[in-house]
Amino acid sequence: MKLSDVIDGGRLAAGGFRDFAVGLASPNLRLGVTGLSRAGKTVFITALIQSLLKGGRLPAFTAMSSGRVNRVFLEPQPDDNLPRFRFEDHIEALTGADRRWPNSTRRISQLRLTIEYSPKGFFARHLSGGRLHIVIVDYPGEWLLDLPLMQMSYAEWSAATLAASRKEPRLSHAKDWHAHLQSLDAAAPAHESEAIAASQLFTKYLASCRAVSLSALPPGRFLMPGDYAGSPLLAFAPLDVAADAQLPNGSLGALMERRYRSYVNRIVKPFFFGHFARLDRQIVLVDALHPFNAGASAVQDLQMALAQILVCFRQGANSLVSNVFGRRIDRILFAAAKADLLHHASHDRLEVILRLIVEAAVARAEFSGAAVDVAAIAAIRSTREARVTQKGEPLDCIAGTPEKGETIGGQVFDGKTEAAIFPGDLPENPRHALDGSLEGHLKFVRFRPPLLKHATFPHIRLDRAIEFLIGDRLS
Ligand code: GDP
Repeated sequence: MKLSDVIDGGRLAAGGFRDFAVGLASPNLRLGVTGLSRAGKTVFITALIQSLLKGGRLPAFTAMSSGRVNRVFLEPQPDDNLPRFRFEDHIEALTGADRRWPNSTRRISQLRLTIEYSPKGFFARHLSGGRLHIVIVDYPGEWLLDLPLMQMSYAEWSAATLAASRKEPRLSHAKDWHAHLQSLDAAAPAHESEAIAASQLFTKYLASCRAVSLSALPPGRFLMPGDYAGSPLLAFAPLDVAADAQLPNGSLGALMERRYRSYVNRIVKPFFFGHFARLDRQIVLVDALHPFNAGASAVQDLQMALAQILVCFRQGANSLVSNVFGRRIDRILFAAAKADLLHHASHDRLEVILRLIVEAAVARAEFSGAAVDVAAIAAIRSTREARVTQKGEPLDCIAGTPEKGETIGGQVFDGKTEAAIFPGDLPENPRHALDGSLEGHLKFVRFRPPLLKHATFPHIRLDRAIEFLIGDRLS
């Protein structure tokens, strides 16, 4: 398939022209927030909006700390066909009597807010109104890993997926699916029941890979179906077919191929043209601590997933985005989320390790174009630091209220009692986080969200993330 085949002029014109017209009236910035399931998207967006609306403590966000932000407010939805990000419900969950984390992202949603500010220079102050509209688009990172499918045939996708599943660490999760696959003949007449069984076993395989912290697991809707749960569009799976195989009409192979093409045409492309290709800035949230703890192959898989994500953003002669809209996304932030699960002594190390992973992904994806940065953040900090003496030695711990049912050293928590734990340290040499030396060394506990004592939640480096993502647009 050629790139020109995936470019749909009509759809492109509609989305692109609307953005252009809106941008003429008032500067507009579309900020994409993504990351794999439970990476921290919902929490990040909620904390971001709350701290902008309420003027939170954001020293590194210079427009705000220098007093140039005059007013921030939410505005009605720009696109009628997209759900609104449920900001108010999420705040309610976090601050209600039972203080719980909000429901995670399952589908795309958006919210628009406006910042009124005083521009820096005298002339700018008098020339422009100092207004920036920000459209925040929240979407599952799993869907991003689908974009390369637009350039792959069914046979190519099958071959790549099967080859990956025949090597560890995936092989041991693929046993049931592989056994079923052996019983299938791509050239035999199609039976719906076989297609459904194959897709269910394939989905189970993907879910079991995800459970051991593997990251690169397309097609994304199999694990994060959004509105397509149970749809026949998801009733397909890879088959052992040669790249040049002629699949007879009515055969199982032909059915699977047709469904794969429908998936690409009816799910992947509309997401790409309607949403992804219209973004200006992007934050990719990464839950890096679990892969570190799971070992070298999980870290390598994370790196591969980040490289695939960067391919989607790549600009230049061969890029999907630049072929559609010209130069568009100009800043991408990779943020290691939940840094509050480590002592602050490890925050810089976490950043250095993620930088190493991202640099390798940049090289692998031959990425160039947008400015890329890395940060270790906690959008909402649920722990504080504590020093505990153990066997006469001081130990740097984190303290908070573990969620009900969490256990540490055999103690089961009731969701009310505070505890200090030693989560483990990240290594001084970042390469040791990549080679599996950290496997099983980190201890994680899910802490409840903190009590809201001031207008906004405590955080770690959320201000740096905001400065990188929007600061220059408020100068
Ligand atoms: P997503 O929307 O699927 O990307 O993920 P969420 O934002 O819902 O986050 C998933 C879970 O991660 C939450 O329920 C929290 O338990 C945890 N989490 C997310 N962000 C933070 C954070 O900043 N600090 C801490 N301690 N936990 C977080």
